[in-house]
Formats: sequence, structure tokens, C-alpha cells
Amino acid sequence: MWKIQDHLTNKNGVLHIGGVNTIKLASKYGTPLFVTDEKRIQKNYNSLYAAFSKYYDKFQINYAVKANNNLAILRILRKLNSGADCSCPEEIFLAKKAGFSSSSIMYTGNYNSKPELEFALKSKVNINIDNLSLLHNLFDIGKPNFISFRVNPGFGKGGYRGLTLGGSKSKFGVSIRDAKNGFKLSKENNVKRFGLHMMTGSAILDNSYFKTITNKILDIAEDISETVGIKFDFINIGGGLGIPYNPNQKPLNINKIGMEIGKLFNRRLNNSNIGKPSLMIEPGRYVVGDSTILLSRVHSIKKTMKTFVGIDAGMNTLLRPALYDAYHQIYVANNLNSRTMETVDVCGQVCENTDIVAKNRKLVKIREGDTLAILNTGAYGFSMSSQYNSRPRAAEILVSGGKSDLIREREKVTDLFKLVKIPKRLRK
Ligand code: PLP
Repeated sequence: MWKIQDHLTNKNGVLHIGGVNTIKLASKYGTPLFVTDEKRIQKNYNSLYAAFSKYYDKFQINYAVKANNNLAILRILRKLNSGADCSCPEEIFLAKKAGFSSSSIMYTGNYNSKPELEFALKSKVNINIDNLSLLHNLFDIGKPNFISFRVNPGFGKGGYRGLTLGGSKSKFGVSIRDAKNGFKLSKENNVKRFGLHMMTGSAILDNSYFKTITNKILDIAEDISETVGIKFDFINIGGGLGIPYNPNQKPLNINKIGMEIGKLFNRRLNNSNIGKPSLMIEPGRYVVGDSTILLSRVHSIKKTMKTFVGIDAGMNTLLRPALYDAYHQIYVANNLNSRTMETVDVCGQVCENTDIVAKNRKLVKIREGDTLAILNTGAYGFSMSSQYNSRPRAAEILVSGGKSDLIREREKVTDLFKLVKIPKRLRK
């Protein structure tokens, strides 16, 4: 028996996740099917927590709900004592539904409407501001007792071009000058607690980058503390911790990152006027990314100038390959021991030529009826899926202790029109 990862094992040529046979899951629940291993999420969270908290005791993880917003998964994270990073009122609603307390939720929206700000204020969550004009709008609505700013430090980094979230071309964050003005205004308006936040990119596999951004945010915090005369309750260095999607990529050395950042915090906060803030991170991908596989059935293989393997999961199910040209490892779940290789394109059933899940990929020879397992689909997998081409969204399963539970039913065709209203004149 060999294994792909601890939770993905080969038993007699069949892929198992968390000890559960994936072929049996596919026949029980149908495909496409997202299957998540609960233990893997716990392991990822706990190792991350241990790596940082060992060196800096006031450490807090806010799981990024956008990565995977299934309530069952949010509950796993809440039970681990995670906080929640929410990008919109709907994510705040979900986090609360999953049991997160208001004080453990941070709301980082962008270009927020007044009703959205009002909802956040009423919900008593911590609001992280992405534009100075939003602070004015917030003060028009009410008096927050906490304010944080998302700062764009002028640079960023990302696993793909679309995942670089800082720098001159980024729509996110405020300038340091605007942050200073915003904190001054907040102080004048009797705001008592402050935070500082930076999120400059996602899917980053460069260990040293996290030290760079930590130094930068501490520089900015010192400057603001000195000029505005405030202390910070927390400093949030964002998410962005990458995972290896491609076997050629090296995983992050999370223990080294945690040690470097923890030590940096201790050293730089000693004798500084920033206060003794909590160190906060808000990872999504690192916590849930590799916990999930997407099972999909091969329905048709076409040989033209290339070989196209047509499966029932496309860009509607997993958008990342079409959106970023992202790479996801694929295994033939029912035939792991085969040695015959073939180079193919794996495609979905959507009427777009960008609906390619894997391009020119060398895989074991695939037959119609096989079940493919697409790896690392726990983050931005289901949460980015759509009903495009009138395809109902996939089901989701959680495996734990050798058992499986349905955590989201497969959508039905009736879900495609349940919110649609037909004007009377068109009903005949
Ligand atoms: N925080 C913010 C503000 C984000 O926009 C994102 C992702 O885009 C995250 C956290 C989570 O990022 P990641 O999944 O790379 O950790």
C-alpha cells in the first residue's frame, strides 16, 4: 500500500480518503462529488497554530470563510477555536450560524455598501476598512468601538497573476497616508481599539515572503503609532500561505515561518510604541485546500488531434483551472496501480473552450466509466462553483473515523429556477 498524502491511500489500486473507499462513495452519492477529510483540516489547523503560538503567545487564526463556507466545515474550525475572516454580510451570517462569536469575526469587505456596513456594525463584528470614504460612511451610520485598516504596502505576490492582491494594480487596501488619516479621524471619534491588516497575495510558496510582509506591517504600525498616538490590539498579516498543487512544488516550511514571525514580533515589539498586539493570520487555502478531493466520472473519450477525456466536473464545478490556469493533480481513483501512461486533456461538459481541467497531462491510461480524483479542491472549489450551462452544483461529503456524511446535497434541476418569477403576460 502506498499513499499520496497521509489521508489519501492506495488499497488494492483503489483510492481511499480517510480510510473510505472513493469508488463506493462515488456510486453511493453520485458524481461530481467533493469529499473532505475532517482529520486533515484538524491537522492543518493544529500544526499552523503550534508553529506560531510556540514563539508568540498572543496568536490568533481567523479562518477565511470564502475558501470553503460549508457550515459543517465552519463548525470544525470553530471547535478548534478559530476565529473567522468574513468578506461580506452573508459570510458573517454563516459564521454566526456556525457558532462563531461576534468578537471572533473580522469583516474585511471591499467597496462595501452602506447597508453592508450597517449590518456589520449591528452584528458587532470587528470591521476592517478598505477605503477612507467607507470610514466616513461608517461614522454616518453609527459609532464603532473598534477600527482596523487594510493597508496596501505597494507590493504583493501571488501563486498566479490573479492572486497578487497588493501593489499599484490592486483594487485592495488603502495607502499608508489614508490609513493614518483614518486612524486620526477614528481617534477623534472616540474609537478606542485599533487593528492593522495587510493581505497582499494568495497561494504563496516562498517561505521568506511572510517575514518580508511582517517586517513591512510592523514598520507601518510603528509609523502610525508614533504619528497618530494609538496602540494596536492586533496586527493581521493576512492569509496567503500556499500549498503544493503540483508535485514539483515544495511545501512551505510552516515551523520556520512561525518561528521567524514569532521571533520578529517579540524582538520588534520590545521597546516599541505599538503596544502588545495579538498576531493574527487569516488563512483559507492552507487550512482546507488539501483536505478535499473532487470525484468525477469519465463519460466520453474523444480522439481528435488530441485526446480529450470528458468528465462530469468542469469549470462550473472547479473554476480554478479556467480562471487562473491553475494546476490540480489527478489520479484514476479506481486504477491507481496501472503503469500505462497517456498524455491527454481532461475537460468538463461546459460549452466553453476554457473548460479544461488539465492540459497535456500525462496520466495512466483512462477508460470510459473510470472515476477521476482531482486533488486539493478544498479551497476555492465548491465556493467558486456555479450553475453555468444550467448544471446543478455538486454534493459534498465529509469523511471521519472511516465513515461518510453528506454535508451538502446535490442541487436538483428545480434549484435552477426556484427563485425565478415569470411575468403574468409570459405564462400562457
Ligand atoms: N483574507 C483576505 C482578505 C482574502 O482576500 C483572502 C483570499 O483571497 C484570504 C484571507 C485567504 O487567503 P488564502 O486562502 O490564500 O489563505
